[in-house]
Amino acid sequence: MSRNSQLSLLILISLFLSGCATIPYEPTVAPGGIYHFVGSGQTLYRISKVYGVDMKEIIRLNNIKDPNQIGVGERLLIPGARVPLSVEPYQPVTPQPLEKIVGKRQYRVKWRYITLHHSATREGNAEAFDRHHRRRRMGGLFYHFVIGNGTGSGDGEIEVGWRWMRQVEVQRSGDIQICLVGDFNKQKVSYAQFNSLVKLLKILTRQYSISFNNIRGHQDIKGKITECPGENFPFSRLQAELR
Ligand SMILES: [Zn+2]
Repeated sequence: MSRNSQLSLLILISLFLSGCATIPYEPTVAPGGIYHFVGSGQTLYRISKVYGVDMKEIIRLNNIKDPNQIGVGERLLIPGARVPLSVEPYQPVTPQPLEKIVGKRQYRVKWRYITLHHSATREGNAEAFDRHHRRRRMGGLFYHFVIGNGTGSGDGEIEVGWRWMRQVEVQRSGDIQICLVGDFNKQKVSYAQFNSLVKLLKILTRQYSISFNNIRGHQDIKGKITECPGENFPFSRLQAELR
């Protein structure tokens, strides 16, 4: 097999697996410390306690504007640390209102599309997908938002990924990625997941003036060979709910 056909086979395989392009892998070792990748429910306070590093120092080194808004999969430089440590998740008593997290951000990305995915797994959460995507050298969690099904996170819980907090696009510009946990070729979207998705889509389309016509399933993107988000995905019910 020629090098080129090997390469295209590899690209084809990765398209089948996720349809997500690869971006360079980020190692854990950092100059003067290590990189900690933020997990589900982890706060800056807890991370700084576990590593025994001053929180202000982490904020300064990583140029963090709002310490209360760090996203799953976000890469933090921890000075002086040698190995990544596990940080217990903290479930906030009063989670931040979605409107505040999703609301117009100070960055200048022009969001125009929303692409819906399923995880194609029965279980999971943003942290698990982040680890998986990092192993596959996709630069960490691919999705901007992950909506749980009661396995790795709450049923209908919306987890916010680092890409959203940092306003980082995937290889398709202006395209917000939302993943619902579940395999919707075999399962159904839960009632709570559907409601959270509607709520999230309403806020996003309003805040960024995105047309409902620009909400699509992963499989609807031209040239994508995938069943994502699964044949049971209630797309017409969703469109009806939004209009
Ligand atoms: Zn997908």
